[in-house]
Amino acid sequence: MKLVVAQMKHETNTFSPVPTPLTRFGTGGQLPLEGAAAAAAWRGTGSALAAFLELAEEAGAEVDLPIAASAWPSGPVHDAAFEHIASRICAAVAKGCDAVLLDLHGAMVTESYEDGEGELLRRIRAIAPGVPVGVALDMHTNLYDAMGRHATAIAGYQTYPHVDMHGTGLRAGRAVLAQLAGRARPTMAWGRQPMLPHVMRQGSDDEPNRTLQARCKQMEAEGALAASVFVGFPNADIEFAGLSAVVVTDNDPALARRWCDELLAMAWRERERFVYRLEPLAESMARAQRLAADKPPGSGPVVLLDHSDNCASGGTMDTMTVLGAMLDAGLTDAAAFAIYDPEAVRAMAAAGIGAELTLPLGGKLDMPSIGLKGRPRSVTGRVRRLSDGRYRNFGPMAKGEHNDMGLSAVFEVAGVQVAVISDHVEPHDLAAFTVLGIAPHTLRFLMLKSRVHWRAGLRSLAHAVVECAGTGVCTSDYELLAFKRVRRPIYPLDPM
Ligand SMILES: [Zn+2]
Repeated sequence: MKLVVAQMKHETNTFSPVPTPLTRFGTGGQLPLEGAAAAAAWRGTGSALAAFLELAEEAGAEVDLPIAASAWPSGPVHDAAFEHIASRICAAVAKGCDAVLLDLHGAMVTESYEDGEGELLRRIRAIAPGVPVGVALDMHTNLYDAMGRHATAIAGYQTYPHVDMHGTGLRAGRAVLAQLAGRARPTMAWGRQPMLPHVMRQGSDDEPNRTLQARCKQMEAEGALAASVFVGFPNADIEFAGLSAVVVTDNDPALARRWCDELLAMAWRERERFVYRLEPLAESMARAQRLAADKPPGSGPVVLLDHSDNCASGGTMDTMTVLGAMLDAGLTDAAAFAIYDPEAVRAMAAAGIGAELTLPLGGKLDMPSIGLKGRPRSVTGRVRRLSDGRYRNFGPMAKGEHNDMGLSAVFEVAGVQVAVISDHVEPHDLAAFTVLGIAPHTLRFLMLKSRVHWRAGLRSLAHAVVECAGTGVCTSDYELLAFKRVRRPIYPLDPM
């Protein structure tokens, strides 16, 4: 038995000015890994790709791993990058195989295609019409019919923060391997609702997503090969952005349809609870200060979430609004993770540890889609630490995966340790802090450019959480996003 196993992951924020060339799909600005090098880097991690490799090994299958390509979210994927990745995968399929297992995201938009995953699957189908294709997808999938039509079995993450990527690979892979062994015949139904849940209301520990995901797990306990609700990725102006569901049953298309419709109806009933209400930043800052004043000694930091500028949703990670408000308010005993500013890091490295300097921090990228120019803030501080920025996640999310934030510095500005980095990473893992010598649990305030994923590795440290509406292209204020292509009417853009 021969399996083609591959990864192509990108969540595209069509409002993001951050470019997405091929090098964004490798670690540290390298090209994405192929073959044995890819297997060595990903084996044993918490990814769906690692799960596919384990299943193949268990089954004694020969594996062809043409490419493992995973990029931090950003603007539309450059055509050349998509063609490079898709052509590697298609060439492997063309050599012949018994099944294809794909670790995809589900919300990839390229310069030419609104539905990058659907286009990849369409090409695979043209080469291998009868070969089973198992697909693992992120919960932020924006589902197009081409994905449902061309895949044999789809399984989506059931957690946000995504701590079940590996388990999702097992669910998708097992459905396909059962088919190869003649033990199952996957039948799939999918559908969408015209709704754009706010990311800030999508956490799977919160309602209504907790109940939706629990029902998916229950369906699997009742015999579904996989049941998934995708809350969707709303910072994408494409026709089918938003919530969807897929259910795979064993040779029972009617049951798949019924279960899928049940999930979609549940989600629609709860649509109002997926709407996030923003708090004005000044109120958030005052609340954070009150919470810190009442904090018992030894308790963890008050976490300030700069959720409009999260690089894991396509944010530039360099807007200074929330950090600026912290500095203006005189918050001390604090850290901020992170400001993306390679130019500032180079200046700090040149000055050396201990040096004091004044420089324009952040704000290097304009955000034309929301009518904003980048606005650096002039700050004076001391270079406390320098690092190569490389680490492996402790977990639980993406456990063991390699990260590279490039040359990085801790710049202490008026009592705030500001992490300044040269490549995007979202702070969802304690290892990102350890590598910079920051101990978050000892601080009074911790600013994170994150929305929900920070909970995976850091929530247990937090005394309290204050969600701060700063500026950036992952804003939860839909009024700021000029939607032109998404289907209408859609809730809550339109009253429904
Ligand atoms: Zn996601």
